[in-house]
This record gives sequence, structure tokens and C-alpha cells, in this order.
Amino acid sequence: MSVIGVCRDVRDFLRTLAGDLPEVFPPARPVYRRRYMRPRLTGPTAAQRRRAREIISASVAHWAGALGLEYKKVFIKNQRSMWGSCSGRRNLNFNWRLAAAPPEALDYVVIHELCHLREMNHSKKFWAHVEAACPAYKARRRWLRDNVALLRRSDLLN
Ligand SMILES: [Zn+2]
Repeated sequence: MSVIGVCRDVRDFLRTLAGDLPEVFPPARPVYRRRYMRPRLTGPTAAQRRRAREIISASVAHWAGALGLEYKKVFIKNQRSMWGSCSGRRNLNFNWRLAAAPPEALDYVVIHELCHLREMNHSKKFWAHVEAACPAYKARRRWLRDNVALLRRSDLLN
């Protein structure tokens, strides 16, 4: 039997197992080969955007004060894969979906972007600033990575 044949057998065996034990082998997420084949990411309603701005701005104001950092404006965005960013003009951008995440996860992204006002890079120095303000930042980052699908639901903040 060829190598490919053996691989197919193993794959078929795993598929049988997956059918028997769906909780052990969760169904694979669909792979979209083309951008336009992915489901559309719906933007926030006016009410969701308002609520997101309220929640996110409060966290930004709190942490900017605590860290002694000055920023210009906060923009609320609907992005597929970015939680936040910081511009050279000291404006901060945040994905509206963060407002539906646990407050600690939101705080981590806010702290991350605020620390870019000090260091416009991801150097060791930058991460030292983040860690000083948010010692559990690795766990917060992991939570966000693991819960992307949850935060892509359109019924957040209702
Ligand atoms: Zn960054």
C-alpha cells in the first residue's frame, strides 16, 4: 500500500472516531478559499456602536489616566481580524466587538494600544510596559484568540 493509501486509511479511521465522539473531535471549521466565500461580517447597529463606544471609551479613559498617557481620539471600528490599533497621530482604534468581551480582555487590548503611545513597535521594551500594567496579558490574549468565533456573532451587546 502506498504512503498516500496509509494516510487515507488513518484519515478515514479518524473520521469514524470523530463521528462517534464529536465532543473529542469537534467538527472542523469550514475553510474559505476565497475572501468572498466567507460569510459577511455584519457591522454594529447604531445602538451597538453607541454601547461599544461607551464601554471602550471608559476603559481607555481609565487606563490612560492610570498610565499617565495622552491620546487624541478613540475610533470604534468593525474589523474582521484586528482588535485595536494606534496611529502615529495618537488616535486609538478599537473593534466594537471588544465591548462584548470580558472586561479584562478589553482592558488588555486598551493597555496594549496605549503602550504603543510609548513604543510604536512590539519590542521587549513594549511588552515590558504591557506586562507592568497587565501582568496576565498572555492569558487575556489567549482568551481573545480562542473566542474569535464567539465575538463574531452579530447579536452582541443587545
Ligand atoms: Zn501592537
